[in-house]
Amino acid sequence: MDTEVAIIGAGLAGLRCAQVLSSRGVAVRIYEASDRVGGRVASDVIDGFTIDRGFQLLNTAYPALRRSVDLSGLDLRAFDRGVRLEQVNNRRLLLDPRQNLFSGPRTLRNLPGTFQEQLQLGRTLAKLAFGASPHLPEPELPTAQWFANSRFSGPLVDEVLQPFLAGVTLDPSLSGSSTVTALILRSLLRGRAAVPARGMGALPGRMAMDLSPGTVLTQCRVAAITPTGLSTSHGEISAAVVVLATDWPMAQELLPQLGSSEMNAVTTWWHALPESPQSKVVCLDLEPSPITNTVAMSAAAPYAPNGKGLIASSAPGTRADSATDGAVREAVARCWDVEEREVELIATSIIPHALPRMSVPLNLTPPLEVAGIVVAGDHRATASIQGALASGERAAKGVLKKLGRAKKA
Ligand SMILES: Cc1cc2nc3c(=O)[nH]c(=O)nc-3n(C[C@H](O)[C@H](O)[C@H](O)COP(=O)(O)OP(=O)(O)OC[C@H]3O[C@@H](n4cnc5c(N)ncnc54)[C@H](O)[C@@H]3O)c2cc1C
Repeated sequence: MDTEVAIIGAGLAGLRCAQVLSSRGVAVRIYEASDRVGGRVASDVIDGFTIDRGFQLLNTAYPALRRSVDLSGLDLRAFDRGVRLEQVNNRRLLLDPRQNLFSGPRTLRNLPGTFQEQLQLGRTLAKLAFGASPHLPEPELPTAQWFANSRFSGPLVDEVLQPFLAGVTLDPSLSGSSTVTALILRSLLRGRAAVPARGMGALPGRMAMDLSPGTVLTQCRVAAITPTGLSTSHGEISAAVVVLATDWPMAQELLPQLGSSEMNAVTTWWHALPESPQSKVVCLDLEPSPITNTVAMSAAAPYAPNGKGLIASSAPGTRADSATDGAVREAVARCWDVEEREVELIATSIIPHALPRMSVPLNLTPPLEVAGIVVAGDHRATASIQGALASGERAAKGVLKKLGRAKKA
């Protein structure tokens, strides 16, 4: 046997599974198709700018994240809790009063919707944020339906909830599960959204440091699997247990019994500005531009060289042609009060398979084992860093059980 446990994919799910198994003395190897660890969480440096694989943030309240890394080792840089609603001649800041005590009255004035809706939103968010366990909406519904039943409508949905969540779930129709939306809102309210100073890729980089050298074999593509072996670009590998921790479409290709996969896509445009803006909140562009949100990464983290600014602007879907690029540049200039000629495109991240679609009804605990293969990945939990890490932990537990090495309760 080549290894006790063979894991396919060194994304967060595969890395977390390997971390847990290694800590229990299990011999494990990860076979990774690309040239590095991290999967969808990665960073490149382009012309001195740190460019993540699409705009993404980690949340300090994710329980599985806290179990996976020492957050103090990531040198986290937090964004402010709030959003800016951007319209021509109408710029409204909605700041969480915990961010700035004196912002409360202004935020209430700026928040669209009737007083009744604002009160109801406050109640809903307070229940989500401060309950000891998540106060999930019952029954589970498409998010848009949950909002309608909660009597959220009109500008409160159209100008705040829809554009904000479209940027997070990449589902502008809000057809995804209310359970996932509630969990997202809960973690945003309980934790801080942040990036490591050196880019999101520092997270998987740090996790990989817990593994012995040689545990991850990169540039090794897996072409076929059985419960006890893999066919790879480096030859045949035998193992006592196989863990499939790829993204959903590849998992379905290697293990068709998983059924069809549905993914949401995103495009992020990265622009340099001559100077960094100061605002550390996500800006929602309510004008009819191609972008949903735009964020000054350099206001929170040292993502840009020499005092320059780095802006990440995103939209669900894959769309980067010269007409769209031009319209995005125009929107960035408008949102950040600069001339269009000062906005320089550094990179575009086009990610067709960004997030698994979280359709209703959602099964948060699908079978761990399918046709003798242990399956992990965000598509087996929630479409998030938390979901990927938690699925890796669940897979590790299942492997230990299969190997007869589970801890006695
Ligand atoms: C643009 C974007 C923004 C996001 N924003 C956030 C956010 O703000 N907050 C949040 O919590 N989450 C966010 N996410 C989600 C989060 O990044 C993912 O849920 C998580 O990283 C998924 O990890 P994973 O291990 O399940 O899968 P992946 O990261 O996809 O890892 C799978 C690995 O398998 C490898 N692989 C695939 N096929 C093979 C093969 N045949 N052989 C060998 N290896 C293979 C891949 O190369 C990859 O390394 C975002 C994701 C994207 C793309």
